[in-house]
Amino acid sequence: MSFADLHLHTRFSDGTYTPDELTAEARRLDLAALALTDHDTVEGCAPMAIACQAADIEFFSGTELTAELDGHELHFLGYFIDIHNQNLLSKIATFQVVRQNRVREMVARLNHLNIPLEASAVFALANCRSPGRPHVGRALVQAGFCANLDEAFDRFLKRHRPAWVPKFKMSAFEAIELIHRAGGLAVLAHPGLNRYDQAIPELAEAGLDGLECFHSKHSPENSQHYLRLAHECRLLVTGGSDCHGMSKGRPTIGSVRLPFHYVLSLKARAMELNPTPPAVAGPPQSP
Ligand code: AMP
Ligand code: ZN
Ligand code: FE
Ligand code: FE
Repeated sequence: MSFADLHLHTRFSDGTYTPDELTAEARRLDLAALALTDHDTVEGCAPMAIACQAADIEFFSGTELTAELDGHELHFLGYFIDIHNQNLLSKIATFQVVRQNRVREMVARLNHLNIPLEASAVFALANCRSPGRPHVGRALVQAGFCANLDEAFDRFLKRHRPAWVPKFKMSAFEAIELIHRAGGLAVLAHPGLNRYDQAIPELAEAGLDGLECFHSKHSPENSQHYLRLAHECRLLVTGGSDCHGMSKGRPTIGSVRLPFHYVLSLKARAMELNPTPPAVAGPPQSP
């Protein structure tokens, strides 16, 4: 039987692996398909597509967008998006600027707490256009202000902690539309972490395509619960590890192994919507 991991981050956002390293791990784990879902960027998709092709692994482009509904933060995965779609690229460019400004604001708050971290240290460590809280946390650890990333989040970066800065969020409906306009399928990520189940029927009504029932932080009961909800709301089922690198001494990739029949259903829906999908690794198409 074949398996996939459809939720992965690389160094193009807040993961610690390069696309090549992640693909090598996937090969070792005998995964048959991968999707890259870096936050607010698609830059890793072309190099990852090339690495996967060489490793004989099927690859789907994707991204993870942060959105909001009724004050709840929700994450949306966009699968099979056209990574050259101008509307998507211009929107994510603005989200990246928001992320960069937010890092400066978080650092300013840390400085107010007499922690002399410099924004340039965070940007040097992140070395990407889409920096986030994990980079601030890793910079705090690197400079010796925190013992580990958990401590950095618990003391400073978690919601309502002193260096936490709320991030601009588009509405959930805008996120779904943005993904659809780029030719993708919109999937609600890790619903068991954001816990706003009441919204799922409304999102399904608004065009949501799928639900990430399997996730490394979902309990088996969570997964069963969301499988039932997906069935009731006629949503596709996806799953992935949400790998950001190593956790507890092991790579997180492959900690969720999505049975391949779910991948086939996703692909079938994507083909229905867009019978001639754009190339991932090819040159940018003119608008
Ligand atoms: P951001 O998009 O900048 O708000 O950062 C969100 C990312 O931070 C998530 O994708 C996780 O990778 C990470 N994260 C969130 N909460 C924690 C936590 N308590 N400990 C470690 N990492 C976390
Ligand atoms: Zn992340
Ligand atoms: Fe997420
Ligand atoms: Fe993620």
